[in-house]
Amino acid sequence: MIPLFNIFSRLKDRIPFFTIGGFPSPVQRLDGLCGLTGNKNLFVKKDDLCGTLYGGNKVRKLEFLLGDALANNYKHVITSGAAGSNHARATATYASVAHLKCTLMLFDQPTSSTVQKNLLADIIHNSSIFIDPSYESHRRHLEDVIETITEKELQAPYIIPAGGSSTVGSIGFVNAGFELADQIARGELPRPDSIFVTLGTMGTVAGLVLGLKASGISCKVHAVRVVADFVGNFDKCIILTEKTNKLLHDNDPAFPILSFSENDLIVYGNYFGNGYAIPTPEGERFIELISKSDTIELDSVYTGKCGAAFYDYVTNAGNKETVLFWNTKSSHEEPSLETPCNPESLPVSIRKYFT
Ligand SMILES: *Cc1c(COP(=O)(O)O)cnc(C)c1O
Repeated sequence: MIPLFNIFSRLKDRIPFFTIGGFPSPVQRLDGLCGLTGNKNLFVKKDDLCGTLYGGNKVRKLEFLLGDALANNYKHVITSGAAGSNHARATATYASVAHLKCTLMLFDQPTSSTVQKNLLADIIHNSSIFIDPSYESHRRHLEDVIETITEKELQAPYIIPAGGSSTVGSIGFVNAGFELADQIARGELPRPDSIFVTLGTMGTVAGLVLGLKASGISCKVHAVRVVADFVGNFDKCIILTEKTNKLLHDNDPAFPILSFSENDLIVYGNYFGNGYAIPTPEGERFIELISKSDTIELDSVYTGKCGAAFYDYVTNAGNKETVLFWNTKSSHEEPSLETPCNPESLPVSIRKYFT
């Protein structure tokens, strides 16, 4: 039984759930970083290890999104993201496990080895892939593809928003708050004063803020923005938190309606750098440091930037807080880039990412 349903038993019968597994994700003391900073209370939450085939933060959202799709008899899911989207890959992977067809509506981004690996995984899991040159053309194309699928299959596909960040997806991170509360109660870590987590499409942060408060942990979420300000910001996050709160309250009145303020969430904009997926020097420095101190592998797009903010915070003189770094990246084994890399064998729209 998942921690959220354990406490709010009416939700169990009313909120569909598809088990992907690997929870609770472990918490660990960051011994190396503790040594470097002299603060013994630095921890990591290892969501990188969750999931059977692919990990990271999208798994928690997909347990509720795919559950919702299956419970409502959908046969096909469709979602959006950049060409090398971790969310698209996670959706392709676990839709195939759930025996749902999957269509990925992607838009162009500069290629990298991560983009290549994620695209290969999308192909391996038999998703249908469309890649548009820009976000705007992607939006228009999305409408057309939804219509085509609906006509052909006589049923609309289940639409998962980019990043899986709907109220339903965010419940995954409400549950994560309850999971952490259980780990604190079991003595696996002290109650953190602060949690550092990456802010993208916001479902992770919005759910976590709600889950922490509802489970009675008073703890501040430090959200490090890695997308443009109009995509993810404090006000939009709180709106998603409140909508998710209402959804849970409507399904189980025992789940309280809560209110949120600057004491619950702070959003940092100053680690974003020059744009989405453009590395920053301080992010790259932290990636190097934590890989040596604690053998933790982070990425340049999301967790490295968040790590840079976390590092500045914990090296601030006189700061003796207990601080938890939430690792949202997958560290499962990657598909080998050698095998299918005959570009001729790849769908035409995808070839350019491999040359
Ligand atoms: C998607 C993603 C995020 C951002 O999470 P959101 O819920 O979209 O804000 C953070 N880290 C990694 C590695 C991701 O793939």
